[in-house]
Amino acid sequence: MMLFDSHMHTCFSTDSQMLIDEAIARSQELNIGITITEHMDLNYPGPLPFIFDVNQYFAEYNKYRSGNILLGIEIGMRSDCLAENCQLVETYPFDYVIGSVHVVDNIDIYTSDFYQGRNKQEVYRQYFNAMLQCVTCYDGIHSLGHIDYIARYARYADPEVYYSEFREHIDEILIVLARKGKALEINTRRLVSKEAIEILMPIYRRFYEVGGRSVTIGSDAHRVTEIGRGLAEGLEIADRCKLKVVYFKDGQPHYMK
Ligand SMILES: [Zn+2]
Ligand SMILES: [Zn+2]
Repeated sequence: MMLFDSHMHTCFSTDSQMLIDEAIARSQELNIGITITEHMDLNYPGPLPFIFDVNQYFAEYNKYRSGNILLGIEIGMRSDCLAENCQLVETYPFDYVIGSVHVVDNIDIYTSDFYQGRNKQEVYRQYFNAMLQCVTCYDGIHSLGHIDYIARYARYADPEVYYSEFREHIDEILIVLARKGKALEINTRRLVSKEAIEILMPIYRRFYEVGGRSVTIGSDAHRVTEIGRGLAEGLEIADRCKLKVVYFKDGQPHYMK
């Protein structure tokens, strides 16, 4: 059974210039399957829009589609464009839909504005509350993207997402996902050290405890050299937490191993 990197961005995403030919060549070198998941953040506050032309995406990429090259999307979940996002993922034949939280109350988590004058507890609770609202409302997603996303950009001495610190908030999210039979993503971008793996492990262990059974693994590559990074670490987390690793093809889960 083939390994899959289920999360990456090529040039249809505002923040990537990767060409699909390069991505495919790299996936063949690594002998893995890949799912392209372009950014679609409707109502994004700017300065640049974070959307792409889905008709053009399928028109240009459909010829590459195969058992090993899949076409997905990463939608930026927010409560003010639920209907538009749902319609989008129902209209087009995406193999896979990642639901992610990049923007909270119309402020990009990437920007310092989101943290200005506020402490970690307050900001992270707001982040998890927004995520809970989204996973509750959004039914069309297959997997919740990077639950630890905020730790990439938060302006605090220790930005890590500790399960023990946000137990109640994280539990609510995991319970909703498990009840709906959704997957939880292991985003490998931050799995750069043993320590980082151990910090995230309790979240995935808890997901299993509340009834979650499947995870997806994705590098979130925006450059060709990043494809496949951390796959081994992601597999280790899944294995230790007894979670099955899946990738989605035509919206259906396939077991990776
Ligand atoms: Zn993302
Ligand atoms: Zn991404």
